[in-house]
Amino acid sequence: MYAEIIIDITHEKLDRTFEYKVPEELEGTLAVGSSVLVPFGNGDKVRTGFIIGFSEKSSFDPAKIKEIRGKAPKSVRIEENLVALAAWMKEHYGGTMIQALKTVWPVKKQERPKEKRIIRRTVTEEEGREWLALFQRKNQKARARLLEALLENEELDYGWILRKLGLTASVVRALEEMQILTVDTETVWRNPVKASEEQMKQIEYTTEQKEAIRIFKEDFQRGNPGTYLLYGVTGSGKTEVYMEMIQSVVQSGRQAIVLIPEIALTYQTVMRFVRVFGNRVSIMNSRLSAGERYDQMMRAKNGEIDVMIGPRSALFTPFEHLGLIVIDEEHETTYKSEQVPRYHARETAIERARIEGAGVVLGSATPSLEAFEGCRRGQYRLLRLTQRVKKQKMAEVSVIDMRKELQKGNRSILSDCLREKIEDRLKRREQVMLFLNRRGFAGFLSCRSCGYVVKCPHCDVSLSWHRGGRMVCHYCGYEEPMIHTCPSCGSPHIGAFKAGTQQVEDLIRKEFPEAKVLRMDLDTTRGKESYETILSSFADQEADILIGTQMIVKGHDFPNVTLVGVLAADLSLYISDYRAAERTFALLCQAAGRAGRGDLPGEAVIQSYNPEHYSIQAAARQDYEAFFAEEMKFRTLMGYPPAAHLMAVLMTSEDEALLNKGAYYLKLFAGRIRTDAGLEIIGPASPAIGKVKDQYRKVLYLKHEDYRVLTEAKDKMEQYIEINEGFQNIRIQFDFDPVQTF
Ligand code: ADP
Ligand code: ZN
Ligand code: ZN
Repeated sequence: MYAEIIIDITHEKLDRTFEYKVPEELEGTLAVGSSVLVPFGNGDKVRTGFIIGFSEKSSFDPAKIKEIRGKAPKSVRIEENLVALAAWMKEHYGGTMIQALKTVWPVKKQERPKEKRIIRRTVTEEEGREWLALFQRKNQKARARLLEALLENEELDYGWILRKLGLTASVVRALEEMQILTVDTETVWRNPVKASEEQMKQIEYTTEQKEAIRIFKEDFQRGNPGTYLLYGVTGSGKTEVYMEMIQSVVQSGRQAIVLIPEIALTYQTVMRFVRVFGNRVSIMNSRLSAGERYDQMMRAKNGEIDVMIGPRSALFTPFEHLGLIVIDEEHETTYKSEQVPRYHARETAIERARIEGAGVVLGSATPSLEAFEGCRRGQYRLLRLTQRVKKQKMAEVSVIDMRKELQKGNRSILSDCLREKIEDRLKRREQVMLFLNRRGFAGFLSCRSCGYVVKCPHCDVSLSWHRGGRMVCHYCGYEEPMIHTCPSCGSPHIGAFKAGTQQVEDLIRKEFPEAKVLRMDLDTTRGKESYETILSSFADQEADILIGTQMIVKGHDFPNVTLVGVLAADLSLYISDYRAAERTFALLCQAAGRAGRGDLPGEAVIQSYNPEHYSIQAAARQDYEAFFAEEMKFRTLMGYPPAAHLMAVLMTSEDEALLNKGAYYLKLFAGRIRTDAGLEIIGPASPAIGKVKDQYRKVLYLKHEDYRVLTEAKDKMEQYIEINEGFQNIRIQFDFDPVQTF
C-alpha cells in the first residue's frame, strides 16, 4: 500500500504529492486526511505531511520509496470531504495544496483537553453505612466525612468536595483502594455559549415566510436542495426563516452552518438560535482561545452539536452529515478571504454543499450582483420577502444636492436641511446617527461645484490621486498629471475629500453643544469590547448622536433613532473599484434602514455631490431591481464580474527593477496563452499602495467570460514562473474576482 502525501512546507516548487510506503503496522489506521511523519529530502529530515490518497501500486521503483515513519503526534485527521474541498479551492483560487488544507482545517494541533474528575460511590447504601460505622468506631473522621457526603450524593466533583470538606487526596485514595469509590476523569468541552432559560415564543409565519420555507423543505426532502437567495429587507423575518429551515434539517439527522459577518454576530443573534436549539448550538469567532476553537471543532466532529454559527471560517466545521449552509448578509465583502487561497465563502459553500448533498441559503436585503444574477440565470432559486413583519414603513429618504449648498455659500459638511432636522430631533429627545461613508482609500478627485469626477478613459473607474502630483488608474496603470481646475465647469473647487469622523465629531460638538455625542470608528474601537460598549450605551440612550463609519450601519436595532444622515454618499462611490456603486447602494440602503425601526417613523438624509447617480437615486427609493439593471449594464459593457470574470495577478518583490522586468515578461507570456479565446490582459499597474513593508507591488488583470479560461491561464503562469529563474525573487499571488483593489 502506498500513500500520496503533501508535505507541510509552503513552497511553490514542492506543491505536489510525494509517494510513501505505508508500513504494515499502520495499514488500516491511516486514512485520507491523516497527518503523518515522513523522511524528506536529501538528509531525510523528518517532516509532517497529509495523506490525500492511496494506491495499491507504486509509480516508481518500490525499492527506492521511503516509508512513513508514523502518525504525527497530537494531530487530528481532516475529514475526507474537506480534503476534496481543499483540492477544489486550490484549483479555483490558486495557491498551494498545503495552504488550502490549512484553510479547511484551521486546528493546528490537539489542544490539552479541559478535564473534570468525578468521585463515584461503588458500594450500595447499606454497605456504605457499614463502612461508615467502622470509620466512626476507629475515629477516622476524614474518611467518615467523605463517605457521608457520598451517601448523600452518589457522584461528587473531586476538586469541589476536597475543598469543601478540607480533605487531602490520600483520603480519597484510601477509599478507592477499599473499593468504596472510583475516581473518573472526564473531558469537558469548553462551551462558549451559555444556554438561556428563556422560553421561545410561538410565531405565526407570514404567507411569504411560509412559501420560502415550503420550497426549501420540499427540495430538501426530495434529496436535492440547491442554492436559494432569500431576498428581503431587514426586519422582513429572514432569520426566522433560516431557523425553521435548520430545524427541518436537524430533525432529519443532519447539521447546519450559519455564516454571519463577525460584526453582526451579536449576543442577541446567538441567543435567538440558542432559544430554539439549546446547547446543540455553538459559535466560532476570533475571540475564542485556541482551546475553545479546538473544542468546538471536536464537538462538531463527535456529533454533539447541530448548528455552528460564525464568520467565514466556520464554513469548514467538520460536520458528518451537513444538510444546510446559511450565509446571512451574503453581499458582505468580508466573505472573501484576503489570504491565499483567496476564497469566497459563497462559492466555496456552494461547492461544499455540492460535495455533501447539502443546500445553501443566501440571505440579503441588498443581494450581491453575483447572487441576483445567479437567480436570473436560473442557477439559484429566488425566495422573496417583500414586507417587514411588524409593518413598519421604510424610512422616508431625501437626497440633498451639496453643489447647491456651495452655491448658497454653505461650505460646511452639513447641509442646512440636515442641520435643521438634527435640531428638531434633539428637541424631541429622539436619537440621530451620522454616517461618514468612508471606506478604503478614497483618494479620488471630484469637483465640489459640479460633481465632476476624474475617471480612467479605459476602465471607467475613478483615477486615484498619488503623492507627487499624478492621477493613476489602479486597473490598467493609465496616468495623467494632477489637475487644479475642473475640466467640466472650470471651478477651482476640485480636490480630494479629506474630512474624517474626528472632524465631523468636532463640528457636531461645536454646532450642538448641548447634545451628547458618541463616535465609533477604528480609532475608538481598538479594545476588544469597546465596539459593543459604544453600541449598547447608544442603545440605552446615553447619547443623542452617534457618529461613525460603516460599522454603525450594521446589525443592532435602535428603536429611538428617527434620523440618519449620510454626510458624503460619494465617498464610497468613486473609490477606484468596479464595485464602488454596489457598495454605495448597499451602504445607503442599510443606513436608511437604521431609521424608524421602532414605533416612530424614520427619516434619512443623503448628502451628495452627484445626486443624480443611479446608485443614490435607487437607494433613496430602496429600489434594488432598478439599481441591479443599471449596474449590470455597466458590468456587461466593461466586462466586469458577474458579467465576466477577472483575475488579479499580484506580484511583489524587494527589487523594483526585477519586479518591473518580471511584470513585463509575465504580461508577454500571458498574451500568448489563449490568443484564440480573447483573453484580455490589463496592466501591469501600480497598486494604490505601491510599496508595503519594503516590498514593491505590481498587478496584472486578466479578463474573460469563462472562469475556466482564467484558471487555465493561472496554471500556465504558475508553470512559467516555476521554470523561470527571473521569478525567483518575486512572489506571485492570484485573486479571482477580487473584492478589493490592490
Ligand atoms: P431579518 O433577519 O430579515 O432582519 P428577523 O427574522 O430578525 O428579520 O425578524 C425581525 C423581527 O420580527 C424579529 O424580532 C422576529 O422575531 C420577528 N418576526 C419574524 N417573523 C415573524 C412573524 N411571522 N411573526 C411575528 N414576528 C416575527
Ligand atoms: Zn466642476
Ligand atoms: Zn484604467
